Amino acid sequence: AALSGGGVLAYSKSNSTSHVTGNSESPKKRIVVLGSGWGATSCLKNLDLAKYDVQVVSPRNFFAFTPLLPNVTCGTVEARSIVEPIRNIIGRSGAFWEAECFKIDAKNKKIHCRPIQKSESIEKEEIIMDFDYLVVAVGARANTFNTPGVEKNCHFLKEVEDAQKIRRSVIDCFEKASLPNLSEDEKKKHLHFVVVGGGPTGVEFAAELHDFIKEDLSKLYPKVKDFVNITLLEAGDKILPMFDQRIIDFAKEKFKRDGIDLKLGSMVVEVTDKAICTKERSSGEVSAVPYGMVVWSTGIGPRPLVSEFMQQIGQTNRRVLATDEWLRVQGSDCIYALGDCASINQRRIMEDIAVIFSKADKDKSGKLTVKQFQSVIADICERYPQVELYMKNKKLKGISDLLKDSEGKDNNIELDIEKFKLALSQVDSEAKTLPATAQVASQQGLYLADCFNRMQERHENPEGPLRIRGDGRHRFHPFRYKHLGQFAPLGGEQTAAQLPGDWVSIGHSSQWLWYSVYASKQVSWRTRTMVVSDWMRRFIFGRDSSR
Ligand code: FAD
Ligand code: MG
Ligand code: MG
Ligand code: MG
Ligand code: MG
Repeated sequence: AALSGGGVLAYSKSNSTSHVTGNSESPKKRIVVLGSGWGATSCLKNLDLAKYDVQVVSPRNFFAFTPLLPNVTCGTVEARSIVEPIRNIIGRSGAFWEAECFKIDAKNKKIHCRPIQKSESIEKEEIIMDFDYLVVAVGARANTFNTPGVEKNCHFLKEVEDAQKIRRSVIDCFEKASLPNLSEDEKKKHLHFVVVGGGPTGVEFAAELHDFIKEDLSKLYPKVKDFVNITLLEAGDKILPMFDQRIIDFAKEKFKRDGIDLKLGSMVVEVTDKAICTKERSSGEVSAVPYGMVVWSTGIGPRPLVSEFMQQIGQTNRRVLATDEWLRVQGSDCIYALGDCASINQRRIMEDIAVIFSKADKDKSGKLTVKQFQSVIADICERYPQVELYMKNKKLKGISDLLKDSEGKDNNIELDIEKFKLALSQVDSEAKTLPATAQVASQQGLYLADCFNRMQERHENPEGPLRIRGDGRHRFHPFRYKHLGQFAPLGGEQTAAQLPGDWVSIGHSSQWLWYSVYASKQVSWRTRTMVVSDWMRRFIFGRDSSR
């Protein structure tokens, strides 16, 4: 049986699989996007949906604004306010499939999916879809480091449902502790909240939970409020490692004043249904402490789909998919990856040094003058962002400084290839991997959409801005990340902000900056309005504490 899906799809059905093939009559290329999170949504919002046949596959039919998840755990913001249906974003020009992709077949350009909604007619069914281009934006999963009992006994904070479960669980703990005939120890156990992981999410959740208890729950449960204890466990020797030391110190001080018990160098070795067992890194001492609730937030690992795909294309022993600077998965054409499931394998300047030299050495004299180098430096800076970073960190003013650095001579120096290598030998140490953040994923989504939108235009003008590599394949500017700064909300209406240029601000004023940035980053006016009204409601009435 052949059905036509919007005139673009040919949909054929066999016993247990549906095969969604491309339509040979349609001149449009098909882009299949996996995921509906930050990377995928930003790509879809900016993609010219009229130019392509766009098919989106994700197990959840909405985008979730993850930075506000910690607020959902305590009811500061409602779950409904931070989600936006993906169908609102793609409109009528794209198609959405609520399904989970379980296999990417790179060779035959097909993906295999399982629908999320089970019904009699599509039971056991598998959807196979062809693609011309595939965008992998499936994100990552919470990482337990295979610590026994974590999967079963801990909460994660990754998805909207996780945040809702945490919220119910906090209230449950208070209700349990309030029942009659409990010993003090039992009350303490129920009201012991443990957060594992001192990254931004763990710290923000601990701070938010503290405020929720202090401002709202302690008024409703006055008899048990003195038994509450919040512990933050971190295996490393500091919290918020990606932040400025001033922010780290402030956070530690604030937690101390708030009575949040911060334990550094404390590794969780097991979580049973009754107790959480930790091992002190310094002394090796193992202890077990009873708990009411544990929230596990120690970082991310690859989803099975991504691990399997990496195996298939020979990217073994990696935690994320490696792409080039154009976000193309290395070792497979037509497949792109972005966000938490991928990382850019920044090309080293040393690998191309001979090519760069000969490109710059136009008179083929075997010697390079500063002037000759100057003529290609724009291309080099574009292709190897580490050059600019290196010059900034070393406070070098220009390219002649860079060359002089190793030579110590003035501007008319001439370099042969060996000296040229020496001058640039330290540059590659500045090549950094980007963090797994919404900021990175959304900038990558925008970049990729822009590439697709201009594909045609570039096809007609293949030279593009990059002449260095000169193989005509790289027709677009490589992806360049712009760091706009980061926040660490620390509770009590105080937020730490670290903006580019080492600008650090901590306190109530940055909290207002935080409110305005996060309101402006909402994907739609609908969610923006809902989030802002949730904040106002909380200011006036406090948080809702019914389960
Ligand atoms: P995601 O946004 O996770 O999206 C992945 C998508 O893929 C989801 O829609 C998922 O349903 C779908 N999917 C999963 N498996 C499959 C499959 N098999 N087939 C098809 N689709 C699949 N970053 C910041 O920059 N600032 C912050 O303040 C911040 N706060 C955060 C707070 C919390 C609590 C969390 C959890 C994260 C926070 N982050 C923040 C990080 C940010 O959320 C991630 O970096 C970002 O979501 C990555 O985007 P992504 O598109 O790669 O993945
Ligand atoms: Mg995504
Ligand atoms: Mg998301
Ligand atoms: Mg993710
Ligand atoms: Mg990444």
